[in-house]
Amino acid sequence: MILIDGKKEAAELREELKKEVLKLKDENNKVPGLTVILIGDLTPSQIYVRNKEKAANEVGLKSNVIRYPDTVDEKTVLDKIKELNKDNDVSGILVQLPLPKQINKQNVIETISPSKDVDGLHPMNVGNLSSGYQGSIPCTPLGCYYLIKKVESNLRGKKAIMVGRSNLNGKAMAQLLLQEDCTVTITHSKTKDLKAECLQADIIVAAVGIPELIKGDWVKKDTIVIDVGINKTDQGIVGDVKFDEVSKVAKALTPVPGGVGPMTIACLLKNTIECFKRSLNK
Ligand code: NAP
Repeated sequence: MILIDGKKEAAELREELKKEVLKLKDENNKVPGLTVILIGDLTPSQIYVRNKEKAANEVGLKSNVIRYPDTVDEKTVLDKIKELNKDNDVSGILVQLPLPKQINKQNVIETISPSKDVDGLHPMNVGNLSSGYQGSIPCTPLGCYYLIKKVESNLRGKKAIMVGRSNLNGKAMAQLLLQEDCTVTITHSKTKDLKAECLQADIIVAAVGIPELIKGDWVKKDTIVIDVGINKTDQGIVGDVKFDEVSKVAKALTPVPGGVGPMTIACLLKNTIECFKRSLNK
């Protein structure tokens, strides 16, 4: 079984991005800038943002974090986003989710200029992805895509099953694999026989949020299994895949932690650089 080392792949991608940033700096006397808005003091969000900032600095991006208390009103946040949309030093804007209840997530997503939407969640970028046009692709599915391609470069005709249909994960992942000529099935909480669907798959991408949902006897041998899940349990952090069982049958599997997570952050940096490059071509 191939244990897909997300940490190693992410480090390699960051090395490539570092070189690209140096080249862009040479050519334009300017580096891409990433601004993150962090609302409230939820510990996981604080950790994610700290990791993103660290990774951005490591590859030479200009990074900035704007912090608000969790009592901030929606208008203040939307006004700040509009200001950042006009700021030429800001290539990418990310608002860390989840948001406090007085702030409407969709209003936030749709206020970020599609050209600076490094999370790829703006409806314009969702449409771009499904139409095969240029635009930002959500970081986690993009990271999963790179990991799958490392194991198997030609995905034509493969049967791929998405477990979970969120905009952030399952739907975007399905589009990426469709573009690779996979035959794609998207499953969700109302799917009748998830085990039977998984047993047909050459590729399974699990993004559900249920600890160890995908069992060893749900997976045929030669399947590539990508575990997006991050679930806090009494036994520590586990994925959506029962690792000890699935690792005995799958062709390749990502661990949790150390699989998809590091690639998500590296792809955020990549998206920021892509936004910067597209802004130069305007
Ligand atoms: P989400 O928005 O809650 O979506 C979960 C999806 O799973 C929904 O489509 C839901 O179906 C489906 N689902 C729920 N129960 C199911 C079942 N029994 N069988 C099949 N499908 C089922 O979650 P998300 O934001 O996509 O995140 C999923 C997981 O990935 C979470 O653990 C999250 O922490 C993790 N995550 C990791 C990263 C990373 O970088 N590694 C990034 C983002 C998220 P319905 O649509 O029918 O409700």
